[in-house]
Amino acid sequence: MAAQYRSGVPDNWFVDPVQLGVPGVRRPVVEDEGTQLSWQTDALCAQTDPEAFFPEKGGSTRDAKRICSSCDVRTECLEYALQNDERFGIWGGLSERERRKLKRRAG
Ligand code: SF4
Repeated sequence: MAAQYRSGVPDNWFVDPVQLGVPGVRRPVVEDEGTQLSWQTDALCAQTDPEAFFPEKGGSTRDAKRICSSCDVRTECLEYALQNDERFGIWGGLSERERRKLKRRAG
C-alpha cells in the first residue's frame, strides 16, 4: 500500500532541512596583490631609509645590502623582484644588475 502511494514521487522530493542550513561553498580565496606582498610587513627596509634602496646611478648600495642581509623576508623579496621583473633598486640584497645575472644563470 505504502509503495503504491509513493509511486511517481521523485526520489529527491525530500529536502533535508539540516542540509538547507549548510552555508554554500565558500569562494576560494583569490590571491590578490595584497596577499602577494604580505611579506612586506616584515621588510626590514620599511623601517629604514628607503632611499638607500634606490640609489642614484652609481650611488652606493652598501647600506641597503647590509640591511637586506639581516632581513627575515629576503628570499620572498628576491623572488618577488625576479618574478615581477623589478628594474630598479635593491631587492633581496641584490642590485638590478646582479638580479639580471642571476636570471641569466637560472634561465
Ligand atoms: S631583503 Fe632587503 S629589500 Fe627586501 S624586504 Fe628585506 S630589507 Fe627590504
